[in-house]
Amino acid sequence: MGKRFTKKKRKKKTSIIIIVLEIVLLLVAIFFLLKIVPKNNDSDVVLFSKCSIIENLMAESELNSDQLILVNKEHAVPDNYDADLVSFGNNKQKANSMIISPMNTMVSDAKAKGYVLNVVSAYRSNELQQKLIDQDYQEYIDKGYSKEEALKNTYDYLMPPGYSEHHTGLALDILCDENEEMDATQANEAGNKWMLQNCTKYGFILRYPKGFEDITGCKYEPWHLRYVGTPVAEFITSNNITFEDFVEILQADKSQSAVLLAKIIRGAAITAINK
Ligand SMILES: [Zn+2]
Repeated sequence: MGKRFTKKKRKKKTSIIIIVLEIVLLLVAIFFLLKIVPKNNDSDVVLFSKCSIIENLMAESELNSDQLILVNKEHAVPDNYDADLVSFGNNKQKANSMIISPMNTMVSDAKAKGYVLNVVSAYRSNELQQKLIDQDYQEYIDKGYSKEEALKNTYDYLMPPGYSEHHTGLALDILCDENEEMDATQANEAGNKWMLQNCTKYGFILRYPKGFEDITGCKYEPWHLRYVGTPVAEFITSNNITFEDFVEILQADKSQSAVLLAKIIRGAAITAINK
């Protein structure tokens, strides 16, 4: 009886210790959760709903990794990338098969509104990219720039071969009919304004926006669109972030994506104010 009683007592003691430990663990967990989860004010609610959008976009990006490929001065097009090229525009140009239909729809919708949009450049091979670089460089030299200045000006707009989005067949340079200049004056054209206001519907983003040159590594190009699919295009445009930011959010640890998104959106807001 005595032994049994001690055993029972010990058992009781052990279970009390376990319960206490569980409570302590629970309190620690609650403490950390409260620390991680931001206070429930309006902007955080918005942020959290955005995070669920990101989660959906993450799932989608796994399915559509080809259309969300990041190509910039630091990220070359991988050797095994399949641009899946098809011809368009009287077989004079080529683009990735996935953008032909949205591109055609956008151009014809623009036409219906009275704007003629001309796709002047789509897919480019490494050789063509080098040719454009050489041409631009020579033009600057002819205008009297030093070799150093000519090189800098050329690479402000053109990526080196292998590093241009145009190699993916997902990028388009589109000029308005009334202005053939590939410069900032495009943004003054009504057709360009319509295009930039509506391109997300067709899955395109303005890839090199004004004020974000440090992130994109490229000067403002109101004529250069990049296909990323409609949900991603709408997310990037409505949050006023760059494609580089978006890829960073996608690749971040899930628990950190809210924090990162907040940081990026606040950064973008500051950039917009300072513009
Ligand atoms: Zn371009």
